[in-house]
Amino acid sequence: MKIAVIGTGYVGLVTGTCFAETGNTVTCVDIDSQKVEKLSSGQITIYEPGLEKLFLRNQKEGRLFFTTALKDAIADARIIFLALPTPPGEDGSADLKYILGVAEDLGKLIMPGDYKVIIDKSTVPVGTADRVREAILKSAETTGRSIGDSFDVVSNPEFLREGVAVDDFMKPDRVVIGTTSDKAIKLMNDLYAPFVRQGNPIIFMDEKSAELTKYAANSFLAVKISFMNEIAQLCERLGADVDMVRRGIGSDDRIGKRFLFPGIGYGGSCFPKDVQALAKSSAEVNYDFRILEAVMDVNEKQKLHLIPKISSFFKNNLKGRHFAIWGLAFKPNTDDIREAPALYLIEALLQAGATVTAFDPEAMKNVKEQVGDKIGYADNQYDALDKADALIISTEWNEFRTPDFDKISARLKAKVIFDGRNLFDLEQIRSLGFHYESVGRKIVYA
Ligand code: NAD
Repeated sequence: MKIAVIGTGYVGLVTGTCFAETGNTVTCVDIDSQKVEKLSSGQITIYEPGLEKLFLRNQKEGRLFFTTALKDAIADARIIFLALPTPPGEDGSADLKYILGVAEDLGKLIMPGDYKVIIDKSTVPVGTADRVREAILKSAETTGRSIGDSFDVVSNPEFLREGVAVDDFMKPDRVVIGTTSDKAIKLMNDLYAPFVRQGNPIIFMDEKSAELTKYAANSFLAVKISFMNEIAQLCERLGADVDMVRRGIGSDDRIGKRFLFPGIGYGGSCFPKDVQALAKSSAEVNYDFRILEAVMDVNEKQKLHLIPKISSFFKNNLKGRHFAIWGLAFKPNTDDIREAPALYLIEALLQAGATVTAFDPEAMKNVKEQVGDKIGYADNQYDALDKADALIISTEWNEFRTPDFDKISARLKAKVIFDGRNLFDLEQIRSLGFHYESVGRKIVYA
């Protein structure tokens, strides 16, 4: 099939590459001409494990193209994916200007009789498929064309996780498709068949239910994380160990083992904005979704959970202190720093008069662009430790899990670790003589 993917970010690039991988011819469109130039010349623009290999292979085999010209990209395409940003607007609701702007452009380009399916992969509020349809029709009318029968708008929310996006896309737990058009259902079934050969379902539903499914999934996961973060707070106050509680409840099938790890809050481009957008959508229909308000509140506080611990250790004076930070990405295996808890920590430390040297395996380039030389950057995790009063861990990259503790001891000014991701075993760290504070567990005193 001929496919156009509009928006070539984390979702668009993975979507385009994976559909090319199953034999389709895909043209990806972006307004960022530098990005398109790079991608066209075989340079990948994001870090996502496993993606580069597929990207290069499909480009080489003539199935994956990049352009800034929407008109050329959709000319032959039967299927058009929208993988555009839906950032929070000023009031917290999803800003649809990118989606509706492209819908308007499409209205001017779709020809009567040349049937196309416009598929919304972005995370959008309930009712957006109708708004996209209206925007396309209205814009077509301005050029005197009637294209009502020449397209369908389908909601197909994306559930991939950065860091394992290729696997998630190639072997999805489920594919959710919102449409009632028989023509679109047939095309979607054909398109996704190679991805669900092991029997995972394609779940068809109406557009609104599909749109809400995505927000419900992300919000539910955010609830789970925040619930555990609150349990961790209680553990610290009551002298319990959150790891034990996690294992105790996670072995119950009804609860499940995943998403029960406490930490310094969720970040990224999805959970924060999606929880906020669902709360806003609820308010618009006069429903007070109280759990979501609590989740947002808990997460805001959790991002800075380590700061009072650090401050109290240094007798409430961080002026002139220097800290090493391991991990800047909002989670491991990505270079994405959107809403990363590390950035909030850094800001708080700098404001308190401290200095910071950071290391992250993939995200330093993005942080340099945003934070510049307000902090130092190390070439490796151990170089970051020199002259630091303590090590702070903010992302659970695998290489931080079993570090060389001798090197840490030798290079830090004092053996002090604040761990926002609970990477180390308390007994081991005690035997090594560190002062160690983590989340929801007992403090290990040196
Ligand atoms: P992104 O910011 O990484 O990428 C968006 C791309 O769209 C950018 O490259 C931008 O230049 C491009 N763009 C903007 N306006 C354009 C236009 N008019 N024409 C062509 N290109 C244009 O965003 P993302 O992380 O890929 O997210 C896209 C959508 O998918 C969002 O709604 C997001 O909530 C949703 N989503 C994201 C993830 C994720 O893990 N990142 C997962 C599931 C769903």
